[in-house]
Amino acid sequence: MNKFRNWLQRVMYGRYGQDSFGMFLMVLALILFTVSLFTIPYVYIAAFAIIGYEYFRMFSKNRAARYKENMWFIRNTAWARNLGAKIKYTFTEGRKYKVFKCPKCGQKLRVPRGRGKIEIRCRKCGEQFIRKS
Ligand SMILES: [Zn+2]
Repeated sequence: MNKFRNWLQRVMYGRYGQDSFGMFLMVLALILFTVSLFTIPYVYIAAFAIIGYEYFRMFSKNRAARYKENMWFIRNTAWARNLGAKIKYTFTEGRKYKVFKCPKCGQKLRVPRGRGKIEIRCRKCGEQFIRKS
């Protein structure tokens, strides 16, 4: 096993290796393989192409170009990570609060859940209104 690791280290020396874009490609390929098992068999061709591309990236010596690809990937998937964080918030912290819109100015106001009927005072315009929390 040690020999194998040494060999791998030698082979990978100066090469780009794995990054988050690469991880994403591997997961995507795995998903496509699974899909191809149950539905359209030809999807596995796309999966192979993706894996081939990822191996090319891992063994690439053009680290700057691979780094740029990874940065591009991270920039363009920021919205997905934000969405994930939002969904997580909705199911954890978000459950403790209810959000109302002020009827006068439209300001969003967050109040604790489960307090029955409460009077809410808008912190922006001072409007008061009653809602069930
Ligand atoms: Zn208001």
